Amino acid sequence: MSEERKTLEQRAQMTDLERLRHSASHVLATAILKIWPEAQFAAGPPVENGFYYDVDLPHRISPDDFEKIEAEMKTEVKANHPFERMEVSRDEALALGKKGRLAALGERAEPSKFKLDIIQNIPAGEKILLYRSGDFIDLCAGPHVKRTGDVGVFKLTSVASAYYKGDETNPQLQRVYGTAFKTKKELDDYFAMLEEAKKRDHRRLGRELELFVFDDDVGPGLPMFLPRGAVIAEELEKLAKETEFAAGYQRVRTPHIARESLYLKSGHLPYYAESMFPPMELVAESAESRRPLHRPELFRELLEKPLTRDVLDEILSKAEKIRSELPIDRYYLKAMNCPHHHKLFASIPRSYRDLPLRLAEYGTCYRYEKSGELFGLMRVRSLHMNDAHIYMTPEQFEDEFNAVNEMYLNYFKLFGIEKYLMRFSTHDPSKLGQKFVDEPELWKKTEEMTRNVLKNSGINYVEVPNEAAFYGPKIDVQAWSVIGREFSIATNQVDFAQPRSFDLRYKDRDNVDKIPICIHRAPLGTHERFIGFLIEHYAGNFPLWLSPDQVRILTIGDDPKLLDYARSVLNELRAHQVRAEIDDSTDKINGKIQRAEQMKVHTMFVIGKRDMEANAVSVRVHGKGNLGAKAGAEAIAELLESIKDRRAS
Ligand SMILES: [Zn+2]
Ligand SMILES: [Zn+2]
Repeated sequence: MSEERKTLEQRAQMTDLERLRHSASHVLATAILKIWPEAQFAAGPPVENGFYYDVDLPHRISPDDFEKIEAEMKTEVKANHPFERMEVSRDEALALGKKGRLAALGERAEPSKFKLDIIQNIPAGEKILLYRSGDFIDLCAGPHVKRTGDVGVFKLTSVASAYYKGDETNPQLQRVYGTAFKTKKELDDYFAMLEEAKKRDHRRLGRELELFVFDDDVGPGLPMFLPRGAVIAEELEKLAKETEFAAGYQRVRTPHIARESLYLKSGHLPYYAESMFPPMELVAESAESRRPLHRPELFRELLEKPLTRDVLDEILSKAEKIRSELPIDRYYLKAMNCPHHHKLFASIPRSYRDLPLRLAEYGTCYRYEKSGELFGLMRVRSLHMNDAHIYMTPEQFEDEFNAVNEMYLNYFKLFGIEKYLMRFSTHDPSKLGQKFVDEPELWKKTEEMTRNVLKNSGINYVEVPNEAAFYGPKIDVQAWSVIGREFSIATNQVDFAQPRSFDLRYKDRDNVDKIPICIHRAPLGTHERFIGFLIEHYAGNFPLWLSPDQVRILTIGDDPKLLDYARSVLNELRAHQVRAEIDDSTDKINGKIQRAEQMKVHTMFVIGKRDMEANAVSVRVHGKGNLGAKAGAEAIAELLESIKDRRAS
């Protein structure tokens, strides 16, 4: 979160909930002062899920103090003081600060040091505002709710340390966090969601269900999928391949690295350099034969001297100098697949008859995300992208763009994603040539085309100015998991700049060379993020088709004949590509069931003597319990149907 001061204009845009939460921070400060009158306050803004106030206080506040503080807060809310706005001169504000009267209940011996500092940073000419509620007066530009009684229901959540203004050379303060809502129900729902989210945390389930791991020697942000996690990735890839095949895509494969010149052409360098791993530097192949130690003639004079330590040093330093002057080739790990795909488009002469051309690849990319931003599978440094680039004529744009949106909606239906939002990011004309490619006409035209498609298809979208990619408008898809957690999982971007910089062309009907439009799209995002999303969405209880363990056969007892029968069922399942295994340990059946339930194995075939004699299995489904005995063939046929249709349960 930015520690920068908000402008008055930004403050005026606070939502109702943010106003309520910010007002709650005044109430929090009042309560703390009633208990510890010497407390000094810095900043108390609303944040994503609540609010905080930074306080300097000799007493270390701990969660044990929350009850006491909350009780004082309740008194303040009950008193229903109005929030009174007071405009003062800079001198008046400074005088109050020196008397310790800012962020305080009355005058104090110690000046309000942080508030005095904040006053110094208010630009000359900007109004200085104070707000009073009861005895509490704070230096604050607002806005607030009308009265403390409007603060609603609140709860303190945690306390952390934070440097004043986020600068570690400044004093360390205590940051007391809380959250507030209009109604008790909203507050309760929020905590229930947090509790559920903790249980579903993909990092925790990823470990417990043995789906993926990180390893220090491999590196931060570089997840490795264990067999059970790799299964999910492969099922998703299969889904994408089938869907894309049916939609007329063709698959390609490209290397993980490329030379610098490719990224200079694409504009990723230098614009995107910070997000790329640094280059691998090699002596240019054209200069290979000029490596100094292969060229004794350069050292003739030195080689004629007797070989002493000094002469050797001289040879080596001369070689080093020559080597440093050799041309260098730089290779980068790819951060995007587009440049490679553009090269494939350009590799063959294209005509309008070849368009639209849809090139797809689950491409592996590497991005140098800052270590502080890495987060489980959600933000990583190696990613497998459900990528494709569609090259088309302007007349084909609408159909292609619609088809891509359709694909999104079908995927959402398949995964039971009911709440989603498309964010349509457009450019800011004042930033052409800096943040956005300087093509004013093309921006206008493509944004209009995109907007029309979105409007006509009736999709739920919002338009966000100034957030387009540098090469064209884009759509980001935000989806909410069943418990209401928000994920940004997919993108769909229009690109009119890269085809131009890569000099991509096709011969149109009139035999004239034209530049195609390109759509970049990744409906399933990356394996990493989408699997992270699905783990939390399903709480690890994957539908049969995605489940790492589709069937586990549990034998009752260890009669060799029973084991033979179990193995024949296993072979039958595997022959139909069902992921199955046998638990033939000597444990009791209840222990075996418990273990399978713990690993969220989708279906259990429990096999006892009676099942064997009837050529049957007793079916048990995770979360549903015992479904009774079925003929083996029938049970398998049902599984196969559910897998084939990718059913939701
Ligand atoms: Zn305020
Ligand atoms: Zn792309």
